Amino acid sequence: MTNPEFDKKFGEECGIVGVYDPNGDVSRLAFYGIYALQHRGQESAGIASADGHKIKLRTGMGLVTHVFKDEDLDYLTGDIAIGHTRYSTTGTSNIKNAQPIVVDGGNFKLAIAHNGNVVNSLELKREMEELGYDFNTSSDSEVIAKIVSNAPASTWEGRIAYLMRKVQGAYSLTLMTEKELIAVRDPLGVRPLCFGKVNGGWIIASESCALDNVGAKYVREVNPGEAIIFDSQGYKSIYQKDMEKCSFCVFEHIYFARPDSEIDGKLVYKSRLLMGKELAREHPVEADMVIGVPDSATASAVGYSEESGIPFGEGLVKNRYVGRTFINPDQRMREVGVKVKLNPLRELIQGKRLVVVDDSIVRGTTSKPVVSLLRNAGASEIHLRICAPPIKFPCHFGVDFPTRKELIAANNSIDEIKDTIEADSLGYLSHAGLLKAVKAEESNVCMGCFTGNHPIPVQLEMDKLSLEV
Ligand code: SF4
Repeated sequence: MTNPEFDKKFGEECGIVGVYDPNGDVSRLAFYGIYALQHRGQESAGIASADGHKIKLRTGMGLVTHVFKDEDLDYLTGDIAIGHTRYSTTGTSNIKNAQPIVVDGGNFKLAIAHNGNVVNSLELKREMEELGYDFNTSSDSEVIAKIVSNAPASTWEGRIAYLMRKVQGAYSLTLMTEKELIAVRDPLGVRPLCFGKVNGGWIIASESCALDNVGAKYVREVNPGEAIIFDSQGYKSIYQKDMEKCSFCVFEHIYFARPDSEIDGKLVYKSRLLMGKELAREHPVEADMVIGVPDSATASAVGYSEESGIPFGEGLVKNRYVGRTFINPDQRMREVGVKVKLNPLRELIQGKRLVVVDDSIVRGTTSKPVVSLLRNAGASEIHLRICAPPIKFPCHFGVDFPTRKELIAANNSIDEIKDTIEADSLGYLSHAGLLKAVKAEESNVCMGCFTGNHPIPVQLEMDKLSLEV
């Protein structure tokens, strides 16, 4: 039981920010930055600040607005701050694993905020424990922090080169010492990271919506394998690993990122709109109205409607204030959860043949209650259209998908899934259709959960092994 939220299909990841602004209120800028990234994780939040001499830290469990009061932000003074919202993908959900994490690097203290998942963290941790290093948390982010702060190098360039040699997997990072702010993105570029100019300083964030939130001007993405340092001189790229291949997570476009973010050079809303258009071409059907399961599928439903000519309508209203619950995620509660979260507009859907667009199907356990909700509200036909190909494999890069055993598409044909969720028809977007919508080549994105071709081959082997036993 890894996901304590009964109404969510899978855990999201984490959101990170970094701020350098000697004349600004860095803790409040970091606060509004992580507030804009709340959708990437709701378990815990934290901000660390640095004033040239020391690092101060505040972390807490829950939403950003629950964790921080004015007095916390007043306490977090300095020229630099980093912030984090967490959804636990490794390590248990407790305050010890909340980030930023601060470690001692001998000549400096290092605070770190991490989005992603290190696939060889257990091995690295064991190696370091044998050398006498202690760990205070069960998170892979502490492993990264200890590797960087104990790297056999005296420059940042050397430390980052060491980090990228040792650590495998997904890591977008903001790092902060008492005097410096550094952004780092793993050589595969799995998770997003961008930066912009704010007031007289700089802000780094997982998604550009956080830059917009604080009135920053977008500059560019941190490149895969790049490290950038921010100081009074501006920003400077201090390390760039030779690019082998990029493996940006295509699920950022489908579900994780906010539609108003620009990632990988594309507006997420636009990518989703194009997914809907592709879906309409691949899986046409006669119907009276297209609706989206709010919020992530709304843009795709608009796209389906534009391409098919079937009118778009609002058929489901979402209660936006349904937050985390601590109810066990069993089937009965998932069904209750869908009712709490979504309410059908009976008058609009009564007697109509509906195309219902959703972002993905993971276990299938939330799709079935959505279909029955609409049927009970009077829909005469329900044709489910999914903006992603069938999810057949787990993710090793920071997304909390269930095991293969629980993934409905790993164990059932599309027809069987249609029958299980009791839809009249079911159509998934093809691999080619998805790539066309996000304007990417398969060699430049990760599609591991659909194809099993994860960007780090050793993980694929492990997957196959675990399937065979
Ligand atoms: S396996 Fe899927 S969710 Fe994980 S990084 Fe790859 S595309 Fe994203």
